[in-house]
Amino acid sequence: MSRAFNFSAGPATLPEPVLLQAQSELLEWNNAGASIVELSHRGPEFIQVAAEAERDLRALMSIPEDYAVLFLQGGATAQQALIALNFANPGQTVDYVVTGHWGKTALKQVKPYVNANIAANGEADGFRTIPARDTWALSKDAAYVHYTANETIHGVEFRDIPDTGDVPLIGDFSSSIVSEPLDVSKFGVIYAGAQKNLGPVGVSVVIVKRELLERAGQPRAEIFDYRAHVKGESMLNTPPTWNWYLAGLVFKWMLAEGGVEEFAKRNDRKSKLLYSVIDNSGGFYRNEVATAARSRMNVPFFLKDEALDKPFLKQAQDAGLISLKGHRALGGMRASIYNAMPEEGVQALAAFMQDFQQRHG
Ligand SMILES: *Cc1c(COP(=O)(O)O)cnc(C)c1O
Repeated sequence: MSRAFNFSAGPATLPEPVLLQAQSELLEWNNAGASIVELSHRGPEFIQVAAEAERDLRALMSIPEDYAVLFLQGGATAQQALIALNFANPGQTVDYVVTGHWGKTALKQVKPYVNANIAANGEADGFRTIPARDTWALSKDAAYVHYTANETIHGVEFRDIPDTGDVPLIGDFSSSIVSEPLDVSKFGVIYAGAQKNLGPVGVSVVIVKRELLERAGQPRAEIFDYRAHVKGESMLNTPPTWNWYLAGLVFKWMLAEGGVEEFAKRNDRKSKLLYSVIDNSGGFYRNEVATAARSRMNVPFFLKDEALDKPFLKQAQDAGLISLKGHRALGGMRASIYNAMPEEGVQALAAFMQDFQQRHG
């Protein structure tokens, strides 16, 4: 058996030690007589797993006490809709900064509920830049400002936290959470689907400033109510226990490896290496995103000659480098290099790309 280096954008590669631990605990967790996935979410075993996952994520991200942490079903897309239901009152405007595909999705999810203002939009530019903060047309009494910290498809990432004054900032961090230190206190809400940087698909993390939970929001069922989820400790109904457990193992692995400071360094080295191969290829490879907005997590790139796309993918696969095909919206290639992608994986990809260029350039 040989595991390839897997550059999938999500679901994405998981740390091998985490998979091995899950494997060793699959039949019986911690002398419980059963797998953790077979036990009640209200039993002492899973309560321990859940509490440790929250404690470890709080430690990893230095989440202040006045923020609640939720582990919910529905993926990031469901959170995009719930945000409007929970934090915008009827008639209130919300501001959206759109820098790629997921910003558009976020906007689409709230349209049925609220009056959404597009404060800035990078689409005219093909989503290759981040509109400068001083060009944003923010509304006066917006309920919140939403942005996408890292655009997974377009490979566009904010390198600092936009200042929105007193208006709460809501960040979709699905593909960049825990990739570097982050000042959580600057946010109203941070949310992320797990399947990029946190674990397997099926659970989302929502980090919400408690004072926002006092907002009335829109009429909604209890199951769509963050306040109720906080009160119910993310167990209003049966939570995705397996996913929560695996995310917890990822948090422990990250802490053991040195935490977000260490991963920030690795991610910096990995992305710099890939961009340098692309930029030094004399146009054989190209990435079109403005340098200052380039993502450290997702590196889309194109070959000079599209006819080489198929051989590139085939030969990469033969070399143990998989899932490099770009998103259908963009074409070309994309290398997703989240925390769990080892540096050796990116080094192997860089070497392959240079070798491929030598043979086909
Ligand atoms: C993947 C992704 C989403 C959608 O996540 P789902 O869990 O599939 O709903 C939203 N935003 C960003 C930035 C993503 O990368």
